[in-house]
Amino acid sequence: MNDVFEKIIKGELPSEKVYEDEETFAFLDINPTNPGHTLVVPRHYSRNIHDISEKDWIAMIKVVRALAPAIQKAVGADGVNIIMNNESAAGQLVFHSHVHIVPRFNDDGFKHWKGAPYKEGEMAEVGEKIRKQVGR
Ligand code: 5GP
Repeated sequence: MNDVFEKIIKGELPSEKVYEDEETFAFLDINPTNPGHTLVVPRHYSRNIHDISEKDWIAMIKVVRALAPAIQKAVGADGVNIIMNNESAAGQLVFHSHVHIVPRFNDDGFKHWKGAPYKEGEMAEVGEKIRKQVGR
């Protein structure tokens, strides 16, 4: 793969790197929701949650855990969102696994996702479908 994140990891495209190790690379999002918005990317290519190896997932998520408080502190944020978009329907634009660390401020105006209650009996139906898929 030679997607935009691959090029950033290889240094073929510039980025504002905030952390790297043998398995991951983290840099500032070029179009941040708030300043400090960071992307954590495994060096080894995968498209998203559906094909990432357990090894790469663990490496990525460990870095997310370590960076989140540092980023929140560095930009003086009040909170932080950890987000992964998987496939276009979920807003994925770059098809190379990555997790967003988004600093949040009490007054930044971004609201919680909209929700709506289940219809009568629907919650149990959905729960049953998922349990069947999970298979345990
Ligand atoms: P997605 O929607 O795929 O989860 O998010 C992709 C993110 O990558 C977007 O927030 C976008 O701003 C960011 N992005 C896309 N191209 C570049 C780039 O060339 N450099 C940097 N630093 N971020 C990028």
